[in-house]
Amino acid sequence: MSGMSRRRMLGAGAVALGALSLAGSAAVPRQRTPGGARATTTPRPAAPVPARSQPARPPALPVLAEPVRTLTDYRRAVGGPAFPADAIALTIDDGPHPVWTPKILRLLRKHHVPALFCMIGNQVLGHETIAREVVRDGHHVANHTWSHPTHLGSRKRKLVDKELLRGQEKIHDTTGQAPALFRSPGGDWSPALLRDAAAHQLVPLDWSDDPRDWSRPGVAHITRRLLAARPGQILLCHDGGGDRSQTYTSLKTVLPALRAKGLTFVALDRRPRPEV
Ligand SMILES: [Zn+2]
Repeated sequence: MSGMSRRRMLGAGAVALGALSLAGSAAVPRQRTPGGARATTTPRPAAPVPARSQPARPPALPVLAEPVRTLTDYRRAVGGPAFPADAIALTIDDGPHPVWTPKILRLLRKHHVPALFCMIGNQVLGHETIAREVVRDGHHVANHTWSHPTHLGSRKRKLVDKELLRGQEKIHDTTGQAPALFRSPGGDWSPALLRDAAAHQLVPLDWSDDPRDWSRPGVAHITRRLLAARPGQILLCHDGGGDRSQTYTSLKTVLPALRAKGLTFVALDRRPRPEV
């Protein structure tokens, strides 16, 4: 898929979302009348969203029956060379957060651990510098929707489309990385959501084991669960969504300990498949 066709997809999203995605008035596309009259504050006719039978989208990815939960699943879904036998992947959700993301970034830097940050579009909003710092440090980013709605698997497609497109656009425009992976909030999946992810050229990504760090079960609990990680797993942690001090403290122990056990942290690839 060419960059142009991807931008077309995003462009279509911007149209569908209208002024919602345009925070600055300078970015509002101006409509000129033939007579040169000034545009009013409501330049757009109240046209319905373009019919879905004419999608301005590139071809969809194959629809997966289940989201990716392990590194083996991942390679099966996206192709490419196998990961090393001792590989493990760290994913960090719900940021960027002004306090916890920079702290976790420093920790990852110290221990030379690459990670995948599953970002929420409306958290990137206002924390753009931190989002860019994530990418500058060599980490990858995934689409974790625009606003993190619950029960996404049973929502109407119109809402799902809006969440995916708006999240994608904000993350891409801010970081320069177009996410290739999509994580549903709370791991809420359905056949319809898996189809929609594929239609958006996003690979659905889950995890192998949830230490439930988001519920603040205590540092010892999080640490114990993460230390039990085995090769081939996709680990889940959070840098956003509240006070992540337990997660941070746990990672200070867990990252060097897992490396000492011989595990190799791998970054999930940015692109799901070679350009064709
Ligand atoms: Zn989340």
